[in-house]
Amino acid sequence: MASVTLQNLSKTFTGQTPAVNDVSLEIADGEFLVLVGPSGCGKSTLLRMIAGLETPSAGTIRIGERVVTEVAPKDRNLAMVFQNYALYPHMSIRQNLAFGLKLQKVPKAEIRTRTDKVAKLLQIETLLDRKPGQLSGGQRQRVAVGRAIMRQPAVFLFDEPLSNLDASLRGDMRRELAALHRRLQTTMIYVTHDQVEAMTLGDRIVVMKDGLVQQVGPPLELYHQPVNRFVAGFLGSPPMNLMEGSWQSEGDTPTFRFGSQTIPVPKPIATTVGSTDDAITLGIRPEHLRLQPSADTNNAIRLAGVVEEIQPLGSESLVHVLIEGQSWIAKTSSTDLTIGASTVLEVSKEHMTWFDTRGIALPER
Ligand code: ATP
Repeated sequence: MASVTLQNLSKTFTGQTPAVNDVSLEIADGEFLVLVGPSGCGKSTLLRMIAGLETPSAGTIRIGERVVTEVAPKDRNLAMVFQNYALYPHMSIRQNLAFGLKLQKVPKAEIRTRTDKVAKLLQIETLLDRKPGQLSGGQRQRVAVGRAIMRQPAVFLFDEPLSNLDASLRGDMRRELAALHRRLQTTMIYVTHDQVEAMTLGDRIVVMKDGLVQQVGPPLELYHQPVNRFVAGFLGSPPMNLMEGSWQSEGDTPTFRFGSQTIPVPKPIATTVGSTDDAITLGIRPEHLRLQPSADTNNAIRLAGVVEEIQPLGSESLVHVLIEGQSWIAKTSSTDLTIGASTVLEVSKEHMTWFDTRGIALPER
């Protein structure tokens, strides 16, 4: 087991903008860290540099106290699990699991003990004599994870390991991986583009965009206190509603104007905004928008709109409300709604997030 420290790590492929741009991170011993971001943000390149499969253009990688930036992948004491499983098709599952240790000339008896232990841990004991082609996608993925565990590495690296599985199996495997991490207590670094996976698996999440780290922290901290509009819009399903408007500072009550409507801007935010008429953005999570106005008029803000679409999910519905030409989504258990009807969305002041012209959350965190 070991910590992983990245210091000013960058990677620029020839003739391109940096794929990874000056990333510094400390991943604690035993931590489950998830790298998440849209396609092309650099998360796989970052992971591959940790694995030793890409050479950094600049920066240092440490595993524990040891600098490994120039060390060959096989000598880094890591195990990596890929999206495509990469099992040997002509070998049995037992042989697949044992292969790495056989190369390392580990004694046969020990390989057998470890194989049986890992097979039991992952509940694949009955599959050991089959070939990969005779397994389901989920079973193959379990074998790929098993092969990584066989090596007893200091750090596990996962690159989108569940993306070839269907939604329900992905959910099951996610729970299994979380349980495995609790059991093994080994450092895990996990790449995904799926924010739900990131939210449910990570002790901490690193959100990346264009090679740059946007924010690092525990899932709920990023969810409730995004540092910028990108993080706010990336996490959450559906994501935070974001409405652009302008800021008016004249008079006693600073206001946010969007289309023909205005709402007051809380004083602590108003003092940090900038100049009058600057474009600012209001963000509200779907679960914080109420379709039944409360009696709490002191603490509530109201937005007028028209019901555009209702998506029943069973226990609740997603209601799309058109406000000043923009579609907002509210999560509600209310069923008494008609498409085309005028409605009022209400939100408590503490659930409004404000972003300045640059998209930075106010006040800056
Ligand atoms: P995805 O989820 O689509 O895999 P990602 O966030 O993992 O995306 P990377 O694969 O790290 O992104 O790629 C980051 C950037 O670096 C992209 O612009 C990609 O085209 C570029 N890139 C990655 N590998 C290479 C390579 N071997 N040669 C040239 N450019 C590369």
